[in-house]
Amino acid sequence: MQVPSHVEYERATSVEHALSLLSRPETRVLAGGHSLIPMMKLRLAQPEVLVDINGLAELAFIALAGDQLRIGALARHADLLSSAVAGQWFPIFHDAEREVADPIVRLWGTVGGSLCQADPSEDLSAVFAAVRATAVIRGQHGERMVPVREFHLGPYETVIRPGELLAEIRVPVRPGTGSAYEKVARRVGDWSVAAAGAVLRLHTDHGRTVIESAGIGLTAVGAEHFVAAEAEDFLAGRVASSESFAAAGAIAAERCHPAADQRGPEDFKRHLVAELTTRALRRAAARAGS
Ligand SMILES: Cc1cc2nc3c(=O)[nH]c(=O)nc-3n(C[C@H](O)[C@H](O)[C@H](O)COP(=O)(O)OP(=O)(O)OC[C@H]3O[C@@H](n4cnc5c(N)ncnc54)[C@H](O)[C@@H]3O)c2cc1C
Repeated sequence: MQVPSHVEYERATSVEHALSLLSRPETRVLAGGHSLIPMMKLRLAQPEVLVDINGLAELAFIALAGDQLRIGALARHADLLSSAVAGQWFPIFHDAEREVADPIVRLWGTVGGSLCQADPSEDLSAVFAAVRATAVIRGQHGERMVPVREFHLGPYETVIRPGELLAEIRVPVRPGTGSAYEKVARRVGDWSVAAAGAVLRLHTDHGRTVIESAGIGLTAVGAEHFVAAEAEDFLAGRVASSESFAAAGAIAAERCHPAADQRGPEDFKRHLVAELTTRALRRAAARAGS
């Protein structure tokens, strides 16, 4: 099937206008369209109305505000990749965005669309989980905040209700934090076979570098909410060392749930999780210290 079924098209002129259009039944937000349009062509999605939010400049921003990095849902992958302030505080964003698809997809695909698509292989879901971001969801009756770690209910399913849209994502900024993302794909621009993102906050205690907190996100390997929670708990309070990073990698590999598919068997994916988590932690620690 290559042709979507009949659909009405509405172009929103403001967030309020978008929300009023979304109050109609069977509507869907259209952002970059890089996931939604192919799904409509395959008839996996059959909305009756598309609400195009591409004209909403008020949702297309990346800015530091106090102790938070704020990213509008309509910021494109390319915007995040070229954002100096995002790269300065969270190099993990630049690591991941360099690996998302190709320049054409990155120019159109949006940060919000990536999160809302909730594809288990979406790189930014693991990244925003690792940095412990908060999603700001708008509806006609106001705004609600949801930690990204609670945003995804399962594959292709999020907490966004009919009539709502994701407006922005907020990331707490803390000095002394380092982050990194490591991905293995079959070829350049492909989806992950597996990937791992790490965020470390370090401090010095009696001359030793100690992990204050760790965030670990996993892509495409069936980790609950894209998080390696047991590995994070293991690291908190330990000395930042190659041994503790390797042990955390092993825990992450053991506790995730990869499925064998055309990208590889389960044991290969577990091997990747162990190795990529260890590497991401090592790089995050080096960046935290610099
Ligand atoms: C060839 C190709 C390769 C790709 N490779 C990768 C890759 O390696 N890694 C990766 O992470 N991604 C990859 N992607 C996906 C890419 O990141 C898409 O940009 C992303 O999946 C969807 O973003 P979008 O803006 O196009 O969303 P759309 O396709 O417009 O929307 C996707 C879904 O989210 C909903 N939605 C969008 N925005 C909002 C909002 N603000 N509020 C509520 N709902 C919303 C839509 O209604 C729809 O259900 C690839 C895509 C393509 C086409």
